[in-house]
Amino acid sequence: MDPRCDIEVLVVGAGLAGLVAAAVAARDGASVVLCEVRAAGGRARSDTREGFVLNQGPHALYRAGVGSKVLSRLGIDFTGSPPHRAVSGYKEATGELARLPTSAGSLLRTRVLGLSDKVHFARLLSTLPKREGHSFAEMAEMSAAEWIASLGLSSRGAGVVSALTRVATYAGHLELVSADAVVAQLQLALKGVIYLDGGWQSLVDGLEAVAASGGAKVLESERATALHARSDGTFEVHTPARTLWAASVVVAAGSPAAARALLPHPPSWELGAPATAACLDLGLRRVPATMVAFGLDQPLYLSTHSPKARLAPPGGAVVHVMRYGARASAEDRAELWALARCCGISDADVITQRFLHEMTVCHALPRPGSGLGGRPAIDATGTAGVFIAGDWVGPVGLLADASLASGEAAGRAAVDHAKRQRANDSAMVGR
Ligand SMILES: Cc1cc2nc3c(=O)[nH]c(=O)nc-3n(C[C@H](O)[C@H](O)[C@H](O)COP(=O)(O)OP(=O)(O)OC[C@H]3O[C@@H](n4cnc5c(N)ncnc54)[C@H](O)[C@@H]3O)c2cc1C
Repeated sequence: MDPRCDIEVLVVGAGLAGLVAAAVAARDGASVVLCEVRAAGGRARSDTREGFVLNQGPHALYRAGVGSKVLSRLGIDFTGSPPHRAVSGYKEATGELARLPTSAGSLLRTRVLGLSDKVHFARLLSTLPKREGHSFAEMAEMSAAEWIASLGLSSRGAGVVSALTRVATYAGHLELVSADAVVAQLQLALKGVIYLDGGWQSLVDGLEAVAASGGAKVLESERATALHARSDGTFEVHTPARTLWAASVVVAAGSPAAARALLPHPPSWELGAPATAACLDLGLRRVPATMVAFGLDQPLYLSTHSPKARLAPPGGAVVHVMRYGARASAEDRAELWALARCCGISDADVITQRFLHEMTVCHALPRPGSGLGGRPAIDATGTAGVFIAGDWVGPVGLLADASLASGEAAGRAAVDHAKRQRANDSAMVGR
């Protein structure tokens, strides 16, 4: 092996996927370098404005998700609280708000569903947690929209299930996401989510600390511009400032396009549609009258993340308002403000606000026809020793769960590859 190759695992991109890959590899004793074009954290970074901690759009961690397990294996501590239980359904056409069912108790009280829908919905709530194994394999074939249509609900009832499905998956177009992923995510949602104290920055800081304690070096403001495979099986990664030599590489650059731009022999992955969102992040001087509302006739969301999580100064509130599927900026902004006003928020309440007109929540949703199992694997890169990680990679989890799970798997695989390389080298020298 070239003596200049002193990095065992080089990670490109310091979002959650790259940070986990680096933390796992460093904890396994590998020499690790992480290069990041901006600051660490990617889409999980939080910003503090006037004392309000704002995630980039609404972020909730699935308590029973694979991501929580990855974080606990790395010893990352986090605290937080579940969302408010009272959820309203919002009809944009009429400006109405009505209580939505999210549990057996609220199902009995809701005025949104008729008796027949209540029976179907109760059956759904009781059977959802039990779906597993072969029924998942069958569901990979169909879209979430087809699955909802098969439930026998009225159009109103289907609207309620669609609204809850969107909240759990962030998919704006339910015909473009496979039902296996959606049902697995709804099962996780039933087990609970939490809003994190200090925002998702607490995860970013925790992962950076684990990586650093294992000796990983983070190069910020440094873009990887090219990745070349060398004849001795190692890799050269170029940045505008330097050339780095590594035994293995994890590309966790966020999007499939960014990964493709770097891979020496980019494969033709079959990818699903991205999920985008328009987000209005608000820091308010008081808590709004209606704390949570989901759109019934439009793909809209509003939730008061603080109080609940510690994100706002005393007496204040952090509210996230979102449209699933971003369109023209002015149109979306006006629509989000209409929902905010309907929930009792006025201009006078606002201390700080930020509108993010088109965020990519997930770069490729699992496709109907192939489902979660059809996403590219961590080693589907066309080059041995180069791995990928992100929210569009691997057979488990959606959103951050997929980034964290694929990051962990890619970090481990990169260490194994680097160790094999070293062992082969030692064997050659000994001959
Ligand atoms: C509005 C919104 C709401 C969300 N809500 C939730 C939620 O409630 N629950 C949930 O589980 N998930 C949620 N997510 C998803 C979650 O934030 C992401 O899945 C996760 O943060 C993605 O991490 P990543 O590391 O895969 O990608 P990214 O965060 O995109 O990180 C990729 C990093 O690579 C860097 N990079 C790119 N190219 C290069 C290069 N050439 N050289 C060096 N660095 C490079 C980028 O700067 C970036 O920092 C949400 C996302 C959004 C946008």
